[in-house]
Amino acid sequence: MIPLKPLANLPTHDVTNMPPHLGDQDLWREDVALREGVAREGGGWAGARLAAFGRIAGAVEIFEKADQANRHSPEIKAFDRNGMRINQVEFHPAYHDLMAVAIANEVPNFAWNHPKPGAQVAHAALTYMFNQPEGGVLCPMAMTYAVVPALRTTPGVGDSWIPGLLSTVYDPRDIPAGEKTGATMGMFMTEKQGGSDVRSNTTRAAAAGQTSGQGAEYRLTGHKFFCSAPMSDAFLTLAYTDVGLSCFLVPRWTPDGERNNLFIQRLKDKLGNRSNASSEMELQDTWGVMIGAEGRGVRTILEMVQGTRFYCCFSSAALMRQGLVQALHHTTHRMAFQKKLIQQPLMRNVLADLAVESEAALALTLRIGRAMDQGVADEGAAALARIATAVGKYWITKRAPGHTYEAMECHGGPGYIEDSIMPRLYREAPVNSIWEGSGNVICLDVLRAMFREKAAVPAFLRELEAARGGNARLDAATEALKDELNNPADLELRARSVTEMMATTLQGALLVQHAPAAISDAFCASRLGARWMGAYGTLPAGVDFAAIIERASPAS
Ligand SMILES: Cc1cc2nc3c(=O)[nH]c(=O)nc-3n(C[C@H](O)[C@H](O)[C@H](O)COP(=O)(O)OP(=O)(O)OC[C@H]3O[C@@H](n4cnc5c(N)ncnc54)[C@H](O)[C@@H]3O)c2cc1C
Repeated sequence: MIPLKPLANLPTHDVTNMPPHLGDQDLWREDVALREGVAREGGGWAGARLAAFGRIAGAVEIFEKADQANRHSPEIKAFDRNGMRINQVEFHPAYHDLMAVAIANEVPNFAWNHPKPGAQVAHAALTYMFNQPEGGVLCPMAMTYAVVPALRTTPGVGDSWIPGLLSTVYDPRDIPAGEKTGATMGMFMTEKQGGSDVRSNTTRAAAAGQTSGQGAEYRLTGHKFFCSAPMSDAFLTLAYTDVGLSCFLVPRWTPDGERNNLFIQRLKDKLGNRSNASSEMELQDTWGVMIGAEGRGVRTILEMVQGTRFYCCFSSAALMRQGLVQALHHTTHRMAFQKKLIQQPLMRNVLADLAVESEAALALTLRIGRAMDQGVADEGAAALARIATAVGKYWITKRAPGHTYEAMECHGGPGYIEDSIMPRLYREAPVNSIWEGSGNVICLDVLRAMFREKAAVPAFLRELEAARGGNARLDAATEALKDELNNPADLELRARSVTEMMATTLQGALLVQHAPAAISDAFCASRLGARWMGAYGTLPAGVDFAAIIERASPAS
């Protein structure tokens, strides 16, 4: 018998010119723009925590768990073996591991557990790092973080729920929250007949006892079309009373220790974000307690939405950063036409352009974080946080899908293959633009902020003026933006272009003030120049490509 030749010895399996595995990443130490930005915006005191977490979140093991959790999507288990309705969702063990790592490291609650200047900035940095390996777990983290201000409107309820949300223990047991060591929360706003248009809700709420209004018990009946993280311990939702649309906290278990009437109908089969469960839910005589003032439900739940929209900003910035890291790694090692790809002029243009976008997204996100920190005591900062969150939510999330796609293309064919992380980053990217208010709705919200918050536009313009004289294109863009803002004609029709101008001008102002000249010059010469069409790899000649790529490279 002829012995079989081992496959490894076949001439065709002599693998050359393929990059080595990237290995463990240090998502803090290897990200100069992140370290500088956090220090600049007031979160420097959290440096040691962030440094430790950068190694945890960047470990190969976490990336592998994220891969598993996304490959093995959650499954609904509506009934137990006896036919009893239990409304459970089963997750791959890797999902639970990721939840435990995130919660142990305060990804959902750092800002509330360390309430001092810079807390929101450090929180953003923590989450930015965790979102690089995994976006799905970020959904329950975002809602658990964002719900706290809304709960504080109703201390009687908030006092019993907030401690569990601030816990660093992940407790996935489906038991009453009072018996658990930690809790998470979700949010149901969207119904079939209306998502953005929340006033078209059809869910009704009737007082369950003699009292009504804030803090009173109600019974809710209706349906919700998008309910992510349905294994959360409680949810904020909207329903009509006779007074108007109101906000309610609906727990999985009633105060009597019974399963609440939450009926998960099915899980959504999603494009991306597959480790996270998103469900459709029926409410039938479901127990709830009113949060915030009766008839002011939209205002109350918007307290939460401000936070989830902030999450969308740094989630998309994180996807950009990780795509860039992957692209830099691949092109550093792969040869084509006698040169490393990273040495080919046109590839350098693409990589540098991706790096500029990534840094601009991060700079804006961290600046919003500082405005949120300062907004606690400063009306102007609060107004800036309000409008800049909407501007950032629109623009950063809008730029992310093209960015991940371009980073994927830097890999050539292997980038399109599931062995690489790039398809997962790419599938994840659009969701931040769609949920928590889709693009148009967010631009209309920018207009709302402009007109309702008198301090918003002046605070925004002050940010731009701080960079005056630093770059001629930026100065011209600031003047052009002022003209746009002063022109009331067809403002709704122009809301996207106005928001885009606000975003790029603010990013330019931040980079001119704080980033190396190579970055800010490239940003202003492209995004604020006359010929920019938005595609990556179109930076003009004269840009310092070497400096930009060097700064973005993990090894720098
Ligand atoms: C994966 C995933 C998970 C989700 N999880 C949750 C969740 O947990 N809880 C929850 O409440 N929701 C959730 N959503 C729902 C999401 O927030 C909504 O889908 C989104 O806000 C848009 O609402 P809609 O689907 O009803 O679209 P519509 O409101 O019908 O909007 C459709 C399009 O029209 C645009 N549009 C709407 N109004 C206007 C206008 N006046 N002018 C111009 N254009 C307009 C929108 O921008 C959008 O592009 C989730 C969505 C996804 C994809």
